[in-house]
Amino acid sequence: MPRTLLVATHNAHKTKEIRDILSDLFDEIIDLSRFSDRPAPEETGSNFAENSAIKALDASRHAPDALVLADDSGLEVDALNGDPGVHSARYAGEHASDADNRRKLLMAFGQPEHADSPRTARFWCVITLAKNGKVIARFDGSIEGTIATTETGDGGFGYDSLFIPQGYHQSFGELSAVQKNSMSHRARALEKLSAWLVDGMDELFL
Ligand code: IMP
Repeated sequence: MPRTLLVATHNAHKTKEIRDILSDLFDEIIDLSRFSDRPAPEETGSNFAENSAIKALDASRHAPDALVLADDSGLEVDALNGDPGVHSARYAGEHASDADNRRKLLMAFGQPEHADSPRTARFWCVITLAKNGKVIARFDGSIEGTIATTETGDGGFGYDSLFIPQGYHQSFGELSAVQKNSMSHRARALEKLSAWLVDGMDELFL
């Protein structure tokens, strides 16, 4: 039986990063673009773990026997009390684009009360694995950094052109995909998943 992983996302950027990182472990890594008529479930959870489970279970119920991986992730900014957090994808509104969200973030720091605020932030990622409507395992990862004053680079997606990882001068938007994937919140969660899979892979595809 081919070892297929279904990533519960319509976000092609996420799928690409996950594929780049996990390609050695699976024969095929697909995502919800295969089921284009399927609406994404409402992310009603109050944290990344809950939303990650909602996405994993929804896709798993739709695709019985498939091994499903869901990623819920976002940016937590200290000066904004953890915002945009679980609302990262729709920070500037329900149908906001990544560019709208980045603009809103820069505008928040442009407010007088944030003139001297620290620009520290972190990305979080929670990965949930599910099969046949049941959660099998959960892993998380984070990366610390700061929010830049202007966008730089056109790599990646979301807030990448505004996020400067700790110890670097370039944003994720400027760093190569290989560099981002060597340290990102997603890569760190997937590293834990890979270590966990080493012993359990055969059982998952029985
Ligand atoms: P989700 O699809 O509900 O998990 O929302 C994730 C959102 O968080 C994305 O739409 C981005 O705005 C942001 N985000 C998550 N991971 C990254 C990343 O690796 N780079 C930049 N933005 C990210």
